[in-house]
Amino acid sequence: MEKEFEKLIMELKRCEICKNKFGFEPHPIILGNLYSKIVQISQAPSATVHKTLKPFTDQSGKKLKYEWYKVNDDIFYNPNNFYITALAHCYPGKDKNGYDRLPPKVCYDTWIKKELECIDNKLYIIIGAKSAKVFFPNENFNELIFKNNYINNKLALVLPHPSPLNIKWFKDHPEFMSKRILEIRKIINDVLKEKQYVY
Ligand code: SF4
Repeated sequence: MEKEFEKLIMELKRCEICKNKFGFEPHPIILGNLYSKIVQISQAPSATVHKTLKPFTDQSGKKLKYEWYKVNDDIFYNPNNFYITALAHCYPGKDKNGYDRLPPKVCYDTWIKKELECIDNKLYIIIGAKSAKVFFPNENFNELIFKNNYINNKLALVLPHPSPLNIKWFKDHPEFMSKRILEIRKIINDVLKEKQYVY
């Protein structure tokens, strides 16, 4: 499995399937290994990450790492801890209205299914409504956030998008910051410390 996984990641890092559609050179972003404890799946890298080539180096990432998880960069970027992937591995550019394009479905179909088959993780974290829709197509996004869910019989936590633009959602759901994120943080930190956890 290790050789197959290495080959998969090498091919993924060279992927240019969306080059013509994007109109620029794609920069696939991926970090983790076969034994990462937590598989984190977000929507797509931002324009900032397209430049830094390091996931979650933007404002959303700072909120996620330092305010929500309360982990430092040594922990977050340790591939034994987090496998950081997304519905699209590359920043998809802007549409004609100036909004970030949707993550191209071809990325999920080509890469993510195969990645997830390889990794021996303990926990999934699914970030944002678009990602949640892929894994839980028939469930209400807000309900998913406030309960424990399962993918492949493993615990899956669903988070709202940490983007600074997502102000209204946080105003409408104050219990996320006052209660739910405390529960989520405890689960994440227990998994990172490999404490026994039963949820
Ligand atoms: S978004 Fe995915 S499929 Fe498209 S170029 Fe990047 S890695 Fe390839």
